[in-house]
Amino acid sequence: MPGLEDVYRRSPIVVQNAMATAFGAKERLLRYGGRFRDYCDEVDRGQWLSADELAELQAARLRAMVSFSVDQVPYYRKLFDQLGLAASDIRGPEDLAALPVLEKDTVRQDPESFRPTDLAERPVAQTTGGTTGTPLRYWVTPSAMQYTYATYEVRFRRWAGVALGDRMASINGRKVVPVEQAKPPFWRHNLAFNQLYLSAYHLTDEHLPSYVERLERFAPEVIVGYVSSIHLLADHINRHGLAGVVRPRAVLVSSETLFPWMRADIEQAFGCKVHDGYGLGELAAFITECRHGSLHVSPEYGVVESTTTDGEEHRLIATGLFNRAMPLLRYDTGDVIRMAPPDHRCPCGRELPVVDQLLGRADDYVVTPDGRSVGPAPLSLAFQGVPGIREAQIRQAEEAAVDVLLVVDATFDDAREHQLDHELRERLGHVVDIRYERVDAIARTVWGKRRLVDSSIGRRGAT
Ligand SMILES: [Zn+2]
Repeated sequence: MPGLEDVYRRSPIVVQNAMATAFGAKERLLRYGGRFRDYCDEVDRGQWLSADELAELQAARLRAMVSFSVDQVPYYRKLFDQLGLAASDIRGPEDLAALPVLEKDTVRQDPESFRPTDLAERPVAQTTGGTTGTPLRYWVTPSAMQYTYATYEVRFRRWAGVALGDRMASINGRKVVPVEQAKPPFWRHNLAFNQLYLSAYHLTDEHLPSYVERLERFAPEVIVGYVSSIHLLADHINRHGLAGVVRPRAVLVSSETLFPWMRADIEQAFGCKVHDGYGLGELAAFITECRHGSLHVSPEYGVVESTTTDGEEHRLIATGLFNRAMPLLRYDTGDVIRMAPPDHRCPCGRELPVVDQLLGRADDYVVTPDGRSVGPAPLSLAFQGVPGIREAQIRQAEEAAVDVLLVVDATFDDAREHQLDHELRERLGHVVDIRYERVDAIARTVWGKRRLVDSSIGRRGAT
């Protein structure tokens, strides 16, 4: 039986638009139903609490999460037992150092051991590719989703001067049209919610004008999506003297490193401020940019550890405070941050902690012979449905070919490689030769971060 996605792909555009609307409705209920409104009020009030009040609230939520985890989650019950610790030994974030850092691989190898035996809500299964190409299965509670979207609404959208329901154009990993499609439309319109989904896989010199034209007609109030994709659009707009043709009130980006020059290009093209955001699919950390350009941590959402006080870079270790469907304590996100000094005060008046820089999401693009540039965030989605892959990297030394390096487990066979090949071709097309190589390990960057894409042709960031 064909999956919904196959049905979607074979349907006429009118039906696809209707299906995009129906998918939107289901997603919308999970995100914006239930306690979403109450959480918005809470998150709104919470942003004006003093640093001390926030610290107290965070510690209380941490104690509750640790206590729940030790009571209900097999992995933590065993871990605390082995360490000779009781849940009550963790009174605040400063006590977390007693626990080992939780590697993504540990979760990936046995995700079931992180699920509670007893849960008041029915969990929803999710998969993330992450920007390192290692798929991870995890579960969320509807209330944690609603709390996450309330935080997104209040501390991302509203900080940027927009709101839920505004006309939104989004360009992310969603495969809205087949990659082999050679003519517009490369987008679908969600009529019910006023959203235009644009393909991140057709950004060529040839097609970019049609994107800009469609955006101009749609006149979005906000543009949301991957840094790489939005930057390609902005670069085209600037090069062709089209700045200001599309004028949203804000651009919200996430998932990839936003370099200062990219920010400048995007702000020039769209004549508005870019707001950067960081949130994990695994619901462990939430960091968003206010109007004064500070990246604020939401401390009641998750603990973001600051291991140094001297402004040095370190791994972003996070502890989620809300998602009981899969508690993650001291979770190594694989990303790198530099915290601002604790006494740093943002002119916006909020005492939420500030991240000086989100680093280590530096990644390249794959550039195809037909002129498309595809960034790491959309490419990471190719790996997410394929089991047995522990690590992956796409290397490109020439335009006509890429090498896909894979660290796999025993379950990975030729059928899975074939499946991955299919997924990658959906994003890169057939113009690139894709070679596969199984390796023991993938080299890390100086920050200890793996990059998904390493391309000498589409080099964008520092290593
Ligand atoms: Zn601020």
